[in-house]
Formats: sequence, structure tokens, C-alpha cells
Amino acid sequence: MQTYLVGGAVRDKLLGLNVKDHDWVVVGATPEEMLERGFKQVGADFPVFLHPKTHEEYALARTERKQGQGYHGFSVYAAPDVTLEDDLKRRDLTINAMAETENGELVDPFNGHTDLRNRTLRHVSDAFCEDPLRILRTARFAARLAPRGFTVCKQTMDLMRRMVSEGELEHLVPERVWQEMQRALHEQSPTVFFDLLRELGALTVLIPELADPLALEAGLRALACIHKHEGSTAQRFAALLSALPEPDAVHRAAAMKTPNDCRDMTHLVCLFMTELDGISKNGLAPQQALELLGRADLWRRAERFETLLQTLACTANPSLYPILEQLRAAADAASGVNPRDLLAQGYKGKELGEAIQHERLARITHALNHSQQQEG
Ligand code: ATP
Repeated sequence: MQTYLVGGAVRDKLLGLNVKDHDWVVVGATPEEMLERGFKQVGADFPVFLHPKTHEEYALARTERKQGQGYHGFSVYAAPDVTLEDDLKRRDLTINAMAETENGELVDPFNGHTDLRNRTLRHVSDAFCEDPLRILRTARFAARLAPRGFTVCKQTMDLMRRMVSEGELEHLVPERVWQEMQRALHEQSPTVFFDLLRELGALTVLIPELADPLALEAGLRALACIHKHEGSTAQRFAALLSALPEPDAVHRAAAMKTPNDCRDMTHLVCLFMTELDGISKNGLAPQQALELLGRADLWRRAERFETLLQTLACTANPSLYPILEQLRAAADAASGVNPRDLLAQGYKGKELGEAIQHERLARITHALNHSQQQEG
């Protein structure tokens, strides 16, 4: 039985980066032998084991055989006769298909080290076609490594383009797409991910609404800006869709099965973008501010309002910044209304609700007058 360090750890060591996870491949062992040595099996489908002390992942060398279209058509084959090279061959990119022996020697049957030196992302073999998720993974590594000068080689671009035109992406379940996309949103240059997918014709399959070049351009600009501010996944995704009409954006966020906070932020950002457009011509009126703050659910979730403002600041035209400031001033003022005080004054039921809104409006009016005077 031999053990090899594989994948991302070997790649990142050669790139001089911090290694986060160590993944190992075990050749020449059976599941029973692993269990006898104290390893614990994880995952029902794949023969992966956790080391009893380090808790790092040890996978039995495996190959995959495809039987039908898409992700579901695979059968995994792991047996003591599967070699390290068999295992490396099923990996996506050559820079991810290197291994290291226990003595620190590099095992590199697909010339990953040369590609790494030449800053090239290249598929290992035609088996790349067996899993369309690899298109997204390649775009994600491009987004991570583009600042270091990496590009995808022509052969891999051609192969991915063919996979897209043959409809392979349509077989991916939304959960897998989202898992890759949300990781991509946090890579070094997230815009590279979407630019590459656009070039491949893949973006129109994954997010058809972004086929409109203007919406895509505005979305990417907003994404780059929010990325600089270390925005959350929800902010990044909302920024990307920010130039779409609100119903389209909300529909896409739901169809992609994004988490609730992503759907919520997408809905709010697109809604406010539309509303702000109207306001810019006429100036922000107190009643309008009250309604907008209500729609953002400010009264129960003040933190979310801050996140929204930050996202809008990256999304909106700079001419709208003064309105964002007015909204913040209105929110600060209205948040000071304490329903308990009004309750103590004897308001109840419907009257209490009206009194709260009345008081909020009064404070917003005062705050907006004050901010306009200061601007003046
Ligand atoms: P990261 O730094 O993002 O974790 P990683 O390379 O460690 O990068 P993982 O998703 O943890 O990425 O995968 C570990 C290794 O497994 C990869 O380096 C790659 O060799 C292989 N791999 C993972 N997913 C696939 C896939 N869908 N197709 C082919 N190979 C894959």
C-alpha cells in the first residue's frame, strides 16, 4: 500500500502558496484494510477515509466510467489494481493532476509542472468531457490564477466550447452549479470567471438573463467593486444581477437554488435600483423614504440595510450617492422610534401601528430637511 499527496496541495506548494487541505490517494489497499488500520469511512458513494489522528482525507485510487449523459451517468471503480496514474488521469486540469510520494518526489505523468511554469490551464485528457462541471472549475481556477498570469490553453477552450454547444451544461443540477459559482464569486478575480463562461457561450445557459451585454457589463463592474469591499456571497451575487429587472433577477436566483440571503439581497438590490432611478429625477420625499425603508424591512433587520446600501453604492451611478446618503440619514432617524414608548402612551392595535408610522415619518421629514439644509 502506497500513499501520495495529490491535487490542490501539490499545485499550491509548487506555486509557493499556503496549503489549506491535504488530500491523499492510497494505492493497493482495500476498504477493509483501511478500516483495520483505524481509518473511518466517510461518504457512502466513494471510498474515502479519514485518518484516525490528522483527520485528513485518504481516498482509494479510483477511476470513473461514464455510462450516460451528465453527472449521473458515472460509475466509480476503486480496487487495489487501480494505479496512481489511473487516478490522476480522471482529474480536470494538469496542474491539479500531480502527486507527491512520501519522500517528496513529484509524480507528474501529464506535465502539470511544465504547465504550471508556463501559466497554462490545460485539461488532462478527453475524459474531461465526462463531467461538465469541469468547465466551471476551469473558469474558477482562471479567476483565481489570472492575476498570476495564467490563461486557459486553446485546446481546452475548444474542447469546452464543444461541450457547451453539445448541451452538456444542461445536465448539471443547480446545486452543483451554485456550489462552484459561489466559490468563484470569492476568487481573486471573480469577473474572469464570468467573462470566460461568456466567451464559451456557457453564461447564456447558466444565467440566460445576462446574455444582454449591457446588463452583463454593468453586473461585472458592480461585482468588481463589491469584491474590493470584501462583500458577502449574497452581495456579490446581487451585484452581478443588479442591472436586471427585479422579476427576472428573482426568478434566476430561485431557479439556481441560491440560499435565501442571496435571493433576498438580489430582490432588494434590483428593487431599489428601479426605485432610485425614479427618485433621481424628483429628489427623495419623506413618504417615499418611509416606504422604501419598510420594503427593506429595516425595522426588524437593520444590519441588512447597511449591507444593501453598501451593495447599492457599488451598483448605482455615482449621481445617486447623495440619495443613498439621504436614505441612510432617514433610516438612522426612523430607527429611533421605540414602539414601547408609544405603547406606554396608551396606543393599541391598529392605532399603535399608525402612531409608529406617523412618528417615523416626522423624524424622517426632520432628518431630510436637515440634510438638505446642510447640502444647501
Ligand atoms: P481548492 O484550492 O479550490 O480547494 P482543489 O484543487 O483542492 O482546489 P477540490 O475541489 O478540493 O479542489 O478538489 C481536489 C482535487 O480533486 C482537484 O485538485 C482535482 O484534481 C480533483 N477534482 C475535484 N473535482 C473534480 C472534477 N469535477 N473533475 C475532475 N477532477 C476533480
